Amino acid sequence: MTAPIIRTVSGLRAMTDAWRRAGETIGAVPTMGALHDGHLSLVQAAKNACDRVIVTIFVNPRQFNSPEDYANYPRTEHDDAEKLERFAVDAIFVPDGDQMYPAGFATTVSVAGLTDVLCGAHRPGHFDGVATVVTKLLLQTACDKAFFGEKDWQQLQVVRRLVADLNLPCEIVGCPTIREMDGLAMSSRNLLLSDRARARAAALHEAMEEVAEGLRAGRTMAELRLKAEARLEAAGFTSVDYLDLRAHDDLSALERPERPARLLAAAWLAGVRLIDNIGV
Ligand code: AMP
Repeated sequence: MTAPIIRTVSGLRAMTDAWRRAGETIGAVPTMGALHDGHLSLVQAAKNACDRVIVTIFVNPRQFNSPEDYANYPRTEHDDAEKLERFAVDAIFVPDGDQMYPAGFATTVSVAGLTDVLCGAHRPGHFDGVATVVTKLLLQTACDKAFFGEKDWQQLQVVRRLVADLNLPCEIVGCPTIREMDGLAMSSRNLLLSDRARARAAALHEAMEEVAEGLRAGRTMAELRLKAEARLEAAGFTSVDYLDLRAHDDLSALERPERPARLLAAAWLAGVRLIDNIGV
């Protein structure tokens, strides 16, 4: 079944108003498109939990750090709609840019603290862009639950924080990272890797597993980080933005997993920035 593609907020509101009047629950899956099995796992989770499911596809200019990165981001709307057919979602919301940011748009949602570290430290303004668009999407879809991937762990914590702080009437559901056969976390950005780079990309996950093993054996991040970075360099990664152990919720830095912790990394391979994280 082909879901209707809705491009305006008023068109979407007409649908969600009718569903809410009928007492139906609404699940939202916000994405930037170029859908892969990671996204589709969120769609399945939403289908399992809600009466109605809206998938949103919007390549959000405000969360990119460079115009080239924004221009190069894969856009595959037709294929995306086809991939969603088997899930029989109720609407695909693909807002035009001026629906999201009309002339005079002047509001930014900014989450302090959590966004100062990790990707926030390396991508100025990125999480303001994410927080603003996610707030809008949660309000536009009038959803009861919204589904986000653990793949973007820091983003998930930022979204949980803003929903709590702004009393948005929506539950945030985190879903596990879906990986390729060789362990590489699925990502729309993987499409930008050459065959040669793709063959080396799983080294990121492998190096992280090795660090996690070392941590479980009682070693510290200081001891393990250098070896992991050398391994990544040997695999062809040109730089590592961070490889950090952090508390799983407030993202404070840890040397050892003395409380529930997440190992998070961002590294560059052939001009593509890959991120990943695992629980320790
Ligand atoms: P994006 O289109 O990259 O903005 O991602 C949209 C949503 O899909 C976000 O909540 C991501 O965390 C989630 N996502 C992306 N990749 C994966 C993956 N490999 N496994 C699970 N969720 C993912």
